[in-house]
Amino acid sequence: LPLPAPRRIKALAQDVVNKIAAGEIIVAPVHALKELIENAVDAGSTALEVMVKDGGLKLLQITDNGHGIDKEDMPILCERFTTSKLKAFEDLTSIGTYGFRGEALASISHIAHLKVTTRTKGSSCAWEAHYADGKLASPKPGQSAEPKPKAGRQGTQITVEDLFYNVPSRRRAFRSSSEEYAKILELVGKYAVHCVGVSFSCKKAGDNSGSSVSVPASASIKDRIRQLHGSGVASELVSLKTEDDRWGFKCNGWISNANYSAKRTGMLLFINHRSVESAVIKKSVEQTYSTFLPKGGHPFFYLSLEIEPARVDVNVHPTKREVHFLNEDEIVAMICDEIRTSLSKVDTSRSFMTQS
Ligand code: ADP
Ligand code: MG
Repeated sequence: LPLPAPRRIKALAQDVVNKIAAGEIIVAPVHALKELIENAVDAGSTALEVMVKDGGLKLLQITDNGHGIDKEDMPILCERFTTSKLKAFEDLTSIGTYGFRGEALASISHIAHLKVTTRTKGSSCAWEAHYADGKLASPKPGQSAEPKPKAGRQGTQITVEDLFYNVPSRRRAFRSSSEEYAKILELVGKYAVHCVGVSFSCKKAGDNSGSSVSVPASASIKDRIRQLHGSGVASELVSLKTEDDRWGFKCNGWISNANYSAKRTGMLLFINHRSVESAVIKKSVEQTYSTFLPKGGHPFFYLSLEIEPARVDVNVHPTKREVHFLNEDEIVAMICDEIRTSLSKVDTSRSFMTQS
């Protein structure tokens, strides 16, 4: 058989490239929401409301009372790599805010219908704009794409509709909207525990039976855990604190004591105020608890780790869900030592009480 002729290599069209990039950052509605929550917190908001329809596939709306966006910045807001948070690569090592790559809003605009309404302190009105493919877009054929003046309070409202409308294969991959909603509630719940001083609410659009998540700004972390995870766990919590200058870290948290035991581990982990996953930390903490809990029992723990930004490599992947840092083993060992000490203390006081 004759060899097939080589096919010519061609560059992908820019909109295809953008859609692929967007799909890598935003795999499910919850990933879009995470970026939007972090943006709202970055903006200094003290009140955050989330509204969801169809597990976020039909509608994701987040309203904050933060500093808002300058009208002059609206034309470039959704371009890729536009950000108010990072100017030079070196800034990556000293960045204090969550987002830093200016990719979130751009990505969302490539795979959903996006509307932004925002008002800064100095502005006499709010401004509303629609976006598509990174640019200002007209809301209806024949209408101008320019931002329109609106009545509105200070802050920003981001409305994301019909996520993945132009990525049918991705859209079809979602079997149940309640599964997606559960992930959204879990994520909002995590930030609602961590962000003291900020009120949170999350509900389904059109559902008047109240919010699924609702915490007031004044609630303490313990109150927040009680509200979201029940008093069963909240009344068995002890605080945890440890730090070490050698490894450039500080850790604060609330962990369940030896009286509490659940079927599954509840882990709320924040590194430099971003919710992250860490299989290493989860496993080590579970191991530490295993000698204190009945067989098959699991702990609940909320840990907020602050690590000197220069020691953290957040540039692993655009999603930034995976975080690596220097001296990970030593830091995890110190945290587990602290947990062990704290659990043994509770143990002795208990046996002391039963003896007396
Ligand atoms: P990044 O957060 O990495 O900068 P984003 O695409 O998430 O990139 O956001 C781009 C810019 O839009 C931000 O740098 C910020 O200036 C502005 N922005 C986004 N969301 C908000 C918000 N809720 N309130 C105020 N400004 C916002
Ligand atoms: Mg961001």
